[in-house]
Amino acid sequence: MDASQYVRIFEDTTNTLTLNEAQVRLKDFKTFNNRKLNHKYTYWTVLNLRNDSNEGQSFVMTLGYNSISEVYEIDADNNVTIKKSGYMIPIPERDMIHDGDAKVRMSLNIGEEKTIWIKTKQLDHFKPFIEVGLIPYDVWDKTTDKEDLFEGLFTGILMVLAVLSLVFYYYTKEKFFLYFGIYTLLHALYFFNFYGYINIYFFPEYPLLSQPFWILQILTFSMYFAFARNFLKVKDLMPRWYNFFKLLSNILVFLFIIDSLFILVTNNLYFGIGVKNVTTIICSSIGLVFIFSFLKTKKDQAYFFASASIFLLCTLILISVNFFIIEATYDAIYVQIGILIEVVILALAIGYEVKGRLNESRITQDSLILQFRENERMQIGINQELEENVAERTHKINIQKRELQQAWNQSESATMAKSEFLSVMSHEIRTPLNAIISLTHLMEMENENPDNQEYIDALKFSGESLHSLINDILDYSKIEAGKLELESVDFSIVDLMNKINGSFKFKAESKGIKINLSIGEYTPERLLGDPTRLTQILNNLISNAIKFTIEGSVGLSAHLVGIKDEIATIGFGVADTGIGIPKDKLDDIFENFEQASRETTRKYGGTGLGLAITKKLIDLHSSKINIESTEGQGSIFSFEIDFKLDKDFEVFETAGLQKHKQNLNKAKILIVDDNDMNRLVLKRLFNKWNGEWSEAVSGKEACELADQYKFDLILMDIEMDELDGFETAALIKAKSKLNGNTEIIAMSARGDVEAKSKTEDSSMSDFIRKPFVPDVLLNKVSFVLNSANDKEN
Ligand code: ADP
Repeated sequence: MDASQYVRIFEDTTNTLTLNEAQVRLKDFKTFNNRKLNHKYTYWTVLNLRNDSNEGQSFVMTLGYNSISEVYEIDADNNVTIKKSGYMIPIPERDMIHDGDAKVRMSLNIGEEKTIWIKTKQLDHFKPFIEVGLIPYDVWDKTTDKEDLFEGLFTGILMVLAVLSLVFYYYTKEKFFLYFGIYTLLHALYFFNFYGYINIYFFPEYPLLSQPFWILQILTFSMYFAFARNFLKVKDLMPRWYNFFKLLSNILVFLFIIDSLFILVTNNLYFGIGVKNVTTIICSSIGLVFIFSFLKTKKDQAYFFASASIFLLCTLILISVNFFIIEATYDAIYVQIGILIEVVILALAIGYEVKGRLNESRITQDSLILQFRENERMQIGINQELEENVAERTHKINIQKRELQQAWNQSESATMAKSEFLSVMSHEIRTPLNAIISLTHLMEMENENPDNQEYIDALKFSGESLHSLINDILDYSKIEAGKLELESVDFSIVDLMNKINGSFKFKAESKGIKINLSIGEYTPERLLGDPTRLTQILNNLISNAIKFTIEGSVGLSAHLVGIKDEIATIGFGVADTGIGIPKDKLDDIFENFEQASRETTRKYGGTGLGLAITKKLIDLHSSKINIESTEGQGSIFSFEIDFKLDKDFEVFETAGLQKHKQNLNKAKILIVDDNDMNRLVLKRLFNKWNGEWSEAVSGKEACELADQYKFDLILMDIEMDELDGFETAALIKAKSKLNGNTEIIAMSARGDVEAKSKTEDSSMSDFIRKPFVPDVLLNKVSFVLNSANDKEN
């Protein structure tokens, strides 16, 4: 029931009128005309209600969409009831809490009469809109139930879509899901506010705060363009639009913020919504232009997008234009339909797009699988080919190997055959040759005719040359065939040297050359080795030396290079003052049948085999020959050979040794070494030097001895099991009462040990490197003993 026709209205331009003052001015109230109302003024309305029916009535009195409506209800007894409504009234004070429309409940008993005074004020710069209606409560209740259901469904659909999109975005990280989600959410929020819920649920005490929700459409457009540019692949198809949309989205967000602030500060919703409506008109038009130009791409998505948006955009334009023409009318139902259509179609479009992408990825997957299979096939092919190649190669290599083996066997048997032949031949030759030489000797003895002597000499020389040549060839071929093995027998090096010296004496003297033999001090007697081969080496060298020396002397020497455990290294030298060897021939002379010059054979005889054999024999001893030579001055051939010390060895004494005899003055020396031979060598040497010794075979034993006896010196091997030399020395220094200050000399073959033993905290006084030379040992021992004596004194 529209009550407006019974309504009279009064404009309070002072905005100060109270109920009583209004009542006094009743005569100034005029008939109702909505159009001329002004938001600056307060309006008073009055109407009478009487229940003429025969039952009590319950109404909802609707008062229009106004900021503040105060209803004064005056009954027959002049009792005044005040009821407040309007969207700017905080929720707790409102008479009815439903949507933003001002309304109050009212009831009239049978025959009851009431005067209703209504004070209306608009705060948001919209024109006041006074519309007094009376709706029976049960009718109102039913319609609002229906409305609530629709509103719930509408916002519900939007919320579901929004949540779904955001979930999809979370999993796919596809931006268009995000934008679509926010877009739908904004629509939902807008209508949530439209239905009054934002105010009721979020800002019940502060209605002003829900006002900016009226302009959410600005943000909605921002998302709309963001969605369009991402979803429709505008970047590839229409890059200019893409950039424009990007800019537009940002501008719209900015505009929304400014407009919201403006509304919150001024409460001028009229202007704020005006801005939104202008924006809506512009954005909708842009949207339409875009849709039509995008349709030209003839993409499926273009049709989807067009059918989704065109209706909504057109409605929005119409409604927004309407705002400026007839002010403040808003036909929400079309917009809601438009939004539903749009959102649902866009959701379908998204589904379509996703399906397309799934297909695409399935296709790519399928093609990948195909590709993979193809690769596999190719791989198998390549493998087969490879295997065939490898098999072929292996076959070839095997053949080559067999051929090589055959060639090797052939050459092996050829060498064998050659040496076999040579040894048989030389043996066969040697027998008659021996006979010739012996007969020559007999002939010489029995010869009385001096004329024959010359022939006999020539015969003898030739026979002997032939003999030595045959011996050489025999040796050489033996070595080459790998048949020659070194012996290891006990021999005296001093005897061997003396014998060689003796055997060449006569020959040398006959040339007027002197042989000087020298054997170094401490050269151990009795070694284990191959005296025959050593003799052969030295013979070759000495015979050359004598042969190539016209005047002067030939030196033959042996000396001890060093002793390390059971190995004594002996150095040999053969020196002469002969013709020397040119530098460029030094390497060649060791080749078989090589001589330094062509004239050699003619002048000196020989075959060029001697040095080749010598070199091979020294090689067999794992050593090498050195040569120093100056043409016209002489040559020195030298080499070193390791011999095992025999247990019964004696140290060769020379006159020089005698002078050291009293040196150690019965000093007490502890020899610590786990090598028996090493201790033996040291013991022999200390015997010679007049020292007294004790021996320990381990660090532990050394410690025990050090606890019992006082020593003048300890000679400590470093590489021992369990306690090594350093540990033993440290223990003795730290624990032994008797020998805490005794000097200790370390012995080792290792360079790093030398460095370590020379550090401050090593407990060592000195270091002797193995292999050692006895003289060096004696010097160090004497020096350490003397300085210890000095310290004591
Ligand atoms: P051969 O002495 O039988 O000729 P070798 O193999 O013993 O063969 O020596 C090779 C060559 O080395 C000699 O011919 C000679 O030219 C040179 N040669 C070897 N020893 C000496 C030496 N002590 N002085 C000078 N030349 C030497």
